[in-house]
Amino acid sequence: MSDVTPLETLGEFGLIRRLQNTVTLRQPSTTLGIGDDAAIITPAPDNNMVVSTDLLVEGVHFDLTFAPLKHVGYKAVAVNVSDIAAMNALPTQIVVGLAIGARYSVEAIEELYEGMRLACEAYNVDLVGGDTTASRGGLTISITAMGQVPNGQAVRRSGAQPNDLICVTGDLGGAFMGLQVLEREKQAFLADPDMQPELGNYGYVVQRQLRPEARMDIVHELKDLGITPTSMIDISDGLASELLHLCAASGAGARIFSENLPIANPTLEAASEFNLDPIMCMLNGGEDYELLFTVPLSDYDKLKHHPDITIIGNMMVKSEGANLVTKAGQPVPLQAQGFTHF
Ligand code: ADP
Ligand code: MG
Repeated sequence: MSDVTPLETLGEFGLIRRLQNTVTLRQPSTTLGIGDDAAIITPAPDNNMVVSTDLLVEGVHFDLTFAPLKHVGYKAVAVNVSDIAAMNALPTQIVVGLAIGARYSVEAIEELYEGMRLACEAYNVDLVGGDTTASRGGLTISITAMGQVPNGQAVRRSGAQPNDLICVTGDLGGAFMGLQVLEREKQAFLADPDMQPELGNYGYVVQRQLRPEARMDIVHELKDLGITPTSMIDISDGLASELLHLCAASGAGARIFSENLPIANPTLEAASEFNLDPIMCMLNGGEDYELLFTVPLSDYDKLKHHPDITIIGNMMVKSEGANLVTKAGQPVPLQAQGFTHF
């Protein structure tokens, strides 16, 4: 970058003022945004407010060797919106806490905010406040998202009943394969800094990793179809781990079929090149941010031809446990391998 302004030249308040000028407010429930000691939010009558927070730490949740700051900003907002979506709610506001290491310039933080601004636009969310501090380490981003849902329509993890259909949106394993590709390119880059990254064939999986989307589109579509899921969760740690959460919270068992799990061709190709089992990538690869939900059997006709929702199995009584049924018809207990950062 040619123009690099050290953060000291603006100071904390100068930086906040600059960021404030890039923010647009769209939500009727935002009564007051950035600039006072606190934002004022006025929820619609007969609505519940849902609140969720996520902390993203450089070197743990994102790696700036390969993730552009604009993408980091977009993803930071998208993963928070995804939690709101998983409650069947509409996101309305976010607040952003930043701890900024000394090596960041004003332009770098503006890049980050540009990504957050784009995500706020995409999801129709207002950025209404935050906090800014220096950090002795890298960059830490804490985002708290708020959303609204009419009374009685929030969907929890706990409502799944035996025989309910288990549905998943989009396709799985892509973000995990994207991370494998990026890590490999990073090693090659560290060995030879003149090397140009070869991401050509991996555009899809890399995008799944760097710039995931929250499935707000599905929340709207389910509403239009007249479907209220009995339980729902977003897939941040991998399908197996999330399905076990639904089972535990609902006091139920589950059965999913390996042949039904949705995978995109580029993910399949990448897995084969890396000698990884595609089923494992789908079950245990994290960060796809698709929605996993259950619906009563009676909703089958409404969903069976949906292009972006796949029915992967059904809930069972608790004593059946939670199993993956292989191609050969063999049940294998699901394990929460997840994708642990520790
Ligand atoms: P205080 O000292 O009371 O915490 P600040 O000076 O930190 O106040 O914040 C002033 C205003 O700027 C507040 O409205 C706050 O929400 C907002 N703000 C601070 N940091 C950020 C940020 N990183 N992003 C968005 N808004 C911010
Ligand atoms: Mg403050």
